[in-house]
Amino acid sequence: MSYKVTSLEKLTKLQPTIENVKRIAPKTSDLARNFSDFVPLENINTDNIIQYTDSTGYSTYTFKIIGDENSINFENFHLLETDEGFIGYILSYEPDEDWYYSESNFTPEGDWVFNIATYQGYLTKYSLEREVIWSSNPNMQNPIANRNQSITYNRASFTICTIFVISTCSNIYSGNPYGYAHPMGPNCEGPYGFMDVETCTTYSGGGSSGGNNGGSSGDNDDDCDTTGTRIVQDLPLDGIDSGCTPNDNTGILPPVEETEEDLDHCEKLLALNLTDSLSVNIVPYIDSLRTKTSLDKEYSISFQKKYNYGEFYSLPDPVGIREGQTTTSSSIRIGSTWFGQAHTHPDGTHYMFSWNDINKLNMMYKGLNDFFDKNEVFMMIVNHDGTVYALKINNANALNTEVTNDLFNAEGNSLNEKVINLNLEIQNEFEEDEFNLEHIFLKRFEDFGLAIYKAANNSLSNWNKLELNPNLLGPNVIEIPCN
Ligand SMILES: [Zn+2]
Repeated sequence: MSYKVTSLEKLTKLQPTIENVKRIAPKTSDLARNFSDFVPLENINTDNIIQYTDSTGYSTYTFKIIGDENSINFENFHLLETDEGFIGYILSYEPDEDWYYSESNFTPEGDWVFNIATYQGYLTKYSLEREVIWSSNPNMQNPIANRNQSITYNRASFTICTIFVISTCSNIYSGNPYGYAHPMGPNCEGPYGFMDVETCTTYSGGGSSGGNNGGSSGDNDDDCDTTGTRIVQDLPLDGIDSGCTPNDNTGILPPVEETEEDLDHCEKLLALNLTDSLSVNIVPYIDSLRTKTSLDKEYSISFQKKYNYGEFYSLPDPVGIREGQTTTSSSIRIGSTWFGQAHTHPDGTHYMFSWNDINKLNMMYKGLNDFFDKNEVFMMIVNHDGTVYALKINNANALNTEVTNDLFNAEGNSLNEKVINLNLEIQNEFEEDEFNLEHIFLKRFEDFGLAIYKAANNSLSNWNKLELNPNLLGPNVIEIPCN
């Protein structure tokens, strides 16, 4: 059994199906609402997909449909693997506001999570053509009891249950002394796991809702039938149908507010200094890099995460500091456990990140396994003028989008040529105003979802966040100290 967050890029077999699903338009005949009420299926987010595979080897896939950012309502698109293809449907959540912001949705670590186990609110199941399959909202048409389906429900009352698979956290400390598993939030430090949460809703006669506690599609516990849009050979078929889905557990992707403030960049940069056995103890490595900025090569060292006996470790590359090829290139390790790198910018180079530094930061972020805390990803430069800068990621999607756009638009016949040209372009900008590199950097990469910090001292015991000054008066870059 496995629960993982993946992307369509990796799920090549699903790609033709998703292309076809994105083209499905709402059907006119069966609508209680206007077309414009519906978020089109072309808004499926293909970057974060929950894939759950059970012991039978069948997978279910959960996608977020990107809707109104300011609404607490949200929708998931589900694909359940069958013997002949898939069953697809949409679950539309209208959470009760009091419940949404209630304590039950906060983890002991203080993260807001969507706790389906206590869900209060309406839930509506649609086919991919937006026909209502059932709804717990009494204001919606609720045709399930009237529909002449292969599944028949007692009109007086029926119960619909679904099993959701959610990722869990069971770390033991003050807020959770016995290590109870609870939904995982960003601050969970493991151990990680996943568990099934079954939610059921009983509908009383006449189509009215018998309770507000969720419920879903699990009408297949006994007969393995799930209703939805049948997809055969990548092609969605018209109408509401049913199919045997041996694994009908689905994940859930709630709205996540992307705030830049709770990423704790300062805390994570300062934690690199820690000298205990679980930490990187970065200062001696930075000091060592400082001694190499007068040499005619770039030098670098990478940093790695490890997980062992329930604990996370951060450690430097056992190989240590490595000599690069030229004054502007050195090695970086990219892969599932590598989360940081520091390198020199020696005499004769610019004391600021290059375009390729940002490119590599993006690659490092994407390479690091989701199992680890991706907010720990960093890149540092140790400059010939004594300054040390650190780069952190506020918004990984923005970073990836901008890097990809730059590469797409850059001149050059190969990736390598494009990177060279993008590096030259920013170097030319730096050369035009040698004493304003911070400002040039902030302007050039304003939309890249990055945060840049400058070490306040040699011991790295404090950092200053650099930002463009929003006021016309004063310096063009302002420094905001971590502490
Ligand atoms: Zn560099």
